[in-house]
Amino acid sequence: MTTLKKIPILGIDFTKITNHELLELLKKDLTAKNTRFIVTANPEIVLYARKHPAYAKVIRQADYITADGIGIIIGSRILKHPLPERVTGFDTMNQLLALAEKLQKSVYFLGAKMDVLQAALKAVKKNYPQLIIAGAQDGYFGQELLVAKAIQKVKPDIVLVALGFPKQELFIQKYYQSSQAIWMGVGGSFDVLAGKVKRAPFFWQKHHIEWLYRLIQEPTRLPRMIALPKYLLFVLAKKFHLIK
Ligand code: UDP
Repeated sequence: MTTLKKIPILGIDFTKITNHELLELLKKDLTAKNTRFIVTANPEIVLYARKHPAYAKVIRQADYITADGIGIIIGSRILKHPLPERVTGFDTMNQLLALAEKLQKSVYFLGAKMDVLQAALKAVKKNYPQLIIAGAQDGYFGQELLVAKAIQKVKPDIVLVALGFPKQELFIQKYYQSSQAIWMGVGGSFDVLAGKVKRAPFFWQKHHIEWLYRLIQEPTRLPRMIALPKYLLFVLAKKFHLIK
């Protein structure tokens, strides 16, 4: 694998990459059948990894760790090693789906509630009519080993894991060597595909206030969003050498 430049933010080495560059690499990976592990990390994940070394160890094994959210971009600028742009889980997932359809590659969908998963699959079939769906499993299963075996059996080229963090990364790290595929944790992306949660319109995205749009839709996320100012304080502390 070509060595990609890494930008450390509070202990996580982000991959210095644009959406376009990542897509080009994933195209090569898909064609060559390279096994890959993608983490799209936001400030919440960075803080969680800081507090949980075992999780940090898991995500350090990822081949690509992309900047999911403006907080990561701001952090990289404060630390004077700017990352080029946001590379979100939802956008990367959609790019992968389009690519898979074009290259006749198959996709496995793991995660979300059963009704959400079904609605997401319906949307996928509508948006990518030629896409090969290798299989699907909701995210509330009993034995994870059986799920991993079911995935292995159908030999998908891409596995999208929508179990939310840290579950999805822990699952991927445990099983990704068993299937030659591109594995990516996509958080709540199936909910967005299913239309249960609306993605912020372009205006909100452009002005980097997508998080505010999400908060208005799901006010119960407020406690989780405290992570952003907390993360920024940590970044500032790092900049002024107050923490390691
Ligand atoms: N989820 C799941 N199994 C679990 C826990 C969560 O399938 O045991 C799903 C949940 O239904 C939702 C997604 O994981 O679809 C997590 O969404 P969230 O918005 O929390 O993720 P984020 O995008 O913030 O990482």
